[in-house]
Amino acid sequence: MIRRQFAATLLLFVLLVPYAAFGQQPGGQQQPAPDPNDPVVRIKDEGMNRSQVMQTLSYLSDVIGPRLTASPGMKRANNWTRETLEKWGMQNAHLEAWGPFGRGWSLKRFSAQIVDPLNIPLIAYPKAWSPATNGAITGEVVYIDAKTEADLEKYKGKLKGAIVITQGPRELKARFAPLGTRQDEKSLLALADAPAPGGGRGAGGGGGGFRMTPEQRAALNFNQRKLMFAQQEGAAVLADGSRAGDGGTVFVQQASVPAIIPDVAPATPAPRVNVYDKIAPKILPQITLANEHYNRIIRMLQAGEKVRMEVNIAVEWQDADLMGYNTIAEIPGSDPALKDEIVMLGGHMDSWHAGTGATDNGAGVAVAMEAMRIIQTLGLKPKRTIRIGLWTGEEEGLLGSAAYVKEHFGNLEPGNPGVVPPATPNSQPAAPPKLTTKPEYDKFDCYFNLDNGTGKIRGVYMQGNEAVRPIFRQWLMPFRDRPNENIWGANTLSISNTGGTDHLSFDRIGLPGFQFIQDEIEYDTRTHHSNMDVFDRIQADDMKQAATIMAAFVYLTADRAEKIPRKPAPGR
Ligand SMILES: [Zn+2]
Repeated sequence: MIRRQFAATLLLFVLLVPYAAFGQQPGGQQQPAPDPNDPVVRIKDEGMNRSQVMQTLSYLSDVIGPRLTASPGMKRANNWTRETLEKWGMQNAHLEAWGPFGRGWSLKRFSAQIVDPLNIPLIAYPKAWSPATNGAITGEVVYIDAKTEADLEKYKGKLKGAIVITQGPRELKARFAPLGTRQDEKSLLALADAPAPGGGRGAGGGGGGFRMTPEQRAALNFNQRKLMFAQQEGAAVLADGSRAGDGGTVFVQQASVPAIIPDVAPATPAPRVNVYDKIAPKILPQITLANEHYNRIIRMLQAGEKVRMEVNIAVEWQDADLMGYNTIAEIPGSDPALKDEIVMLGGHMDSWHAGTGATDNGAGVAVAMEAMRIIQTLGLKPKRTIRIGLWTGEEEGLLGSAAYVKEHFGNLEPGNPGVVPPATPNSQPAAPPKLTTKPEYDKFDCYFNLDNGTGKIRGVYMQGNEAVRPIFRQWLMPFRDRPNENIWGANTLSISNTGGTDHLSFDRIGLPGFQFIQDEIEYDTRTHHSNMDVFDRIQADDMKQAATIMAAFVYLTADRAEKIPRKPAPGR
């Protein structure tokens, strides 16, 4: 019954609100001018007609460049975002340390080319945190074409000083589908119709462990075994082909620390060793090649050629300060009773190193900063305090936002799943996760995140929080396109979860945290974690639209009489 009543109320609401929101008379041809004093009208005007979002992004991506967590580029971006927010008039702009994270790494020089039997310049990049070579080194390229230990034996004594490759060629097909797409009616309808996320406690989503099949585990372990073997045999460099992409696009992330994954989870799992840990073991220099070049080398080897490659990797390590830093700044609230309540917005500022982190996630940073600038420039004085959080360590596991949430709001200790029936007299009872909170937990209102690239906002993932639907529905009304308009197109609400980014750090402990639905323009096909994650792949109109909508959502949240309703808190 509650559901049906709710639906009827919603229907009435949907019928009435568009006219109210557009200032439009039902059936009337003329549209009275929008009220110029309406905050959302002013936000739209500032965001679309005097935007600075592309200047912000250009400085961050072109001038500062890649921002690997703890690298000099990251430190510079921390300082520049703090100074810029302060210059724009934000209060309490500061860097907040988290960690320790680990070592910074920056690339000083890199080249790779085939030098024998002919000269072939290569499109290639070192993996992040790869060690340096000892100057320019030249070695024979050896393809370890092994599927079993016995196969591996054949390479014993043959890898000293070699450039080792272990993957087979990747078949590349012509591209008949466009690299860039927008959400269409069908995909938006699927999001709108998505079932409520399962999972019991209602929080979270994404981040749920990926379970490998025994075959996948064995394949991964044998690949690790090959890398260890190459290192033990004294190889000079490990090279592979890009995990995806073609046409010169290379997807490249961190160097791997070879390790064998046990079949059964041990009682006390060994602490994971990350390549950026100060105690990380010695590994070989590692590079990734464009697939067309990688495949050619394999074909040359298979034709019986001896292929020699010259590689020069010079790097610099930064280990004086192992902490990571988030950039934080505020627009103070104006209501004496509500100004210590906090509305947050943000995105992660760290990136990978082969591009300039424009898509992932300079775009989200520039949009969130622009949303702050719009609200500040217009002199809007919402009731609650608005706080921007520009996170770092996201690419290594949402580390910066998770640490911030733990420090300020609360922590969810993971439970013990116990033993599923049939239980024995000695089996451990299941222990539920336990939430501990800080005083700021109750003062927190809502967090809005942007981290799916350049594409404009098409709506919001509600993360299983049905109670926000009527609120967000109303807020999206001014962002429906009128007939023959193609600017906004943001009117989809999906009850589903989306994962993989920093709103999860809030959602995990029952705080409202949302990521917008976006057009994923060229995201997985070209830019995300690749050397082509650069400014020129960013679409200015999309960015302005996103910043305007984010500013409106943040402002409306901060000025609302009540806080955004929460899901039941987990672990309570
Ligand atoms: Zn990413």
